Amino acid sequence: MGRKKSIGLYHRALEVIPGGVNSPVRAFQAIGVPPSFIERAKGSKIFDVDGHEYIDYVGSWGPMILGHAHPKIVAALKKALPKGTSYGAPTPLEVELASKVKKAFPSMELVRMVSSGTEAVMSAIRVARGYTGRPNVIKFEGCYHGHGDSLLVKAGSGATTFGIPDSLGIPEDLAKHTQTATYNDLESVKILVSQYPEQIACVIVEPIAGNMGVVLPERGFLEGLRKICDERGIVLIFDEVISGFRTAYGGAQEIYKIKADMTCLGKIIGGGLPVGAYGGKRAMMDKVSPLGGVYQAGTLSGNPLAMTAGITTLELLRAKKVYQDLGKKTLYLTEKIAECAEERGLPFTINQATGLFTLFFTEGPVRDYRTAKTSNPKRFAQFFIEMMKQGIYLPPSQFEAWFISLAHTQKDLDRTIEACDAAFKRL
Ligand SMILES: *Cc1c(COP(=O)(O)O)cnc(C)c1O
Repeated sequence: MGRKKSIGLYHRALEVIPGGVNSPVRAFQAIGVPPSFIERAKGSKIFDVDGHEYIDYVGSWGPMILGHAHPKIVAALKKALPKGTSYGAPTPLEVELASKVKKAFPSMELVRMVSSGTEAVMSAIRVARGYTGRPNVIKFEGCYHGHGDSLLVKAGSGATTFGIPDSLGIPEDLAKHTQTATYNDLESVKILVSQYPEQIACVIVEPIAGNMGVVLPERGFLEGLRKICDERGIVLIFDEVISGFRTAYGGAQEIYKIKADMTCLGKIIGGGLPVGAYGGKRAMMDKVSPLGGVYQAGTLSGNPLAMTAGITTLELLRAKKVYQDLGKKTLYLTEKIAECAEERGLPFTINQATGLFTLFFTEGPVRDYRTAKTSNPKRFAQFFIEMMKQGIYLPPSQFEAWFISLAHTQKDLDRTIEACDAAFKRL
């Protein structure tokens, strides 16, 4: 498979961009080959600079639930473009998107638009700290909440719960305010809460985890978090940057019927343009500047093009049976892949929710970070390359979600299953 142009571009990129990429997951580091450079995308397909066509299961890491370059999004953007691209003043579009978000997530009584999921999470945490007057944050090992300083922390192995920075450049003085619990393990949360009485501002969680591969909340986990937070006056933050408008229109909160105090959104609500949003209870959001003393701002926040793509996306997702259709596609694909893997005698686990899933190369079950890590990343790397050769573009890591879009056709799914079967044979 010729990849001459991609490799050439990669070498040029290395001279001007750290690691040749503007976000580390794009670097194919876990695979050990240069990334493909993409020229264009349409529907379920992406096309690289060397002329290869792939069925895409990355979907820009979640936003492209309608598929790429959806004609209605393209048309809406074309219409918006001549009106100017940014004003630094309020627009009707922001009111419209915020209203749609609030309708889908009734727990978000007030909504603030920002430009990325990272910004949404950073801001929500600042609000939780400002509202409670407490410094500490509980997060879960294996959950990703963007690259804000307070969130790039996971506990070291073993019993230590003291925040150890996961990234250079984060002062320990800051990291010590982040405590890490185990996903699906309420006891680990209770221990932290009693260890740091009156110091925990918030518990932040991906209610359907997508960043250690897909891991679902077990029965009682989210309910238990809700209860602990209520008892201790802790702000419960659901990071629905992935699950929002994907697993259901109203995200995990609609599925599990639990209300978060604050919610973070991103990815889908920008329709492929840079958007994030955070919001929650009025009493909390009343703390946000200019109403209150928690400062948060953005030159491009509520950008008219991004709002246009977001509004159009949400309108299209309101159509009948959208999530039923997406759920059926997800089930079909995962069931068939499971059959093939079983036939080949491969150890595997598939975790899935509507619109996303992960094939883990481990016996499983996968229910937290530790069990996710029992997967075989070398086998995944081999599998990834075999799939790429057959025109299937997967997330280049064992610990990521495959994203399905409404544009994936039955033919795409069947081709993917055939490719999996052929790849499994060679593992
Ligand atoms: C992607 C993601 C983020 C960060 O969003 P960016 O737009 O990449 O900054 C935060 N939380 C979760 C759950 C995510 O998947």
